[in-house]
Amino acid sequence: MIQIKNVKKTFNKTEVLKGVNIDIEKGEIFGIIGQSGAGKSTLLRCINGLESYDEGAIVVDDVTVDIKNKKVLRNLQKRMGMIFQGFNLLERLDVYHNVALPMKFWGIPTNTPEAKEKILNLIKLVGLEEKVHSKPKELSGGQKQRVAIARALALDPDFLLCDEATSALDPEITKGILALLQKINKEMGITIIIVTHQMEVVKQICQKVAFLSGGKVLAIGKPEQLFVWPKEQEMREFLREES
Ligand code: ATP
Ligand code: MG
Repeated sequence: MIQIKNVKKTFNKTEVLKGVNIDIEKGEIFGIIGQSGAGKSTLLRCINGLESYDEGAIVVDDVTVDIKNKKVLRNLQKRMGMIFQGFNLLERLDVYHNVALPMKFWGIPTNTPEAKEKILNLIKLVGLEEKVHSKPKELSGGQKQRVAIARALALDPDFLLCDEATSALDPEITKGILALLQKINKEMGITIIIVTHQMEVVKQICQKVAFLSGGKVLAIGKPEQLFVWPKEQEMREFLREES
């Protein structure tokens, strides 16, 4: 599980996270929503150690995320796949080699029969077996995100962190990506954290959601409980704007 305990983070005198508390259980699909600038991406980056935090603690299965402790951090990062709005694929590499990239990075041989089978299985899992040798520029947005998902799974992570992963996609394509994430969660037991400003995403697949506002968690709970009649004025406004 991931425990976020009173986490604070300041950028150039601006306090972006003002004491965030969230518990994410193993196997959950957990959503983090909030307005632009609420600190969602910052929090996600703190979770996987791409960013440091100033106070509090983030604890992943009893291991504290600490960017100064490089060895521990590397092991934690290996357990966390991440996908982004912009897909972040390498244009010069085909689908196969994009998916193989994390293994290369970690010094895992990619030319053994086992490695090849694994990479091809991941590509199959995301439904792109016909595109194995295609370059990113030959793929649609949804297909590119599928490659990014396969790549994020290459090291058998326990967690998949998604930062606005469907924000650049149209609603139909988004549905397909969400169904894929659900399948990954169910069949592979991967805990998924979804940062998004899209209400629909949360409603469709998140079992629990935290609404971030003013650097704090304003509300947390099951989407059906949180969204039906939110007590918080700010959340009501957010829901109105997004729907
Ligand atoms: P969005 O929905 O637009 O992606 P967000 O909730 O993800 O927004 P963050 O990207 O976490 O918001 O940013 C929160 C605040 O922190 C913003 O005011 C942003 O300008 C600031 N910020 C983020 N990263 C940095 C940085 N590296 N240096 C300085 N300020 C930063
Ligand atoms: Mg963001």
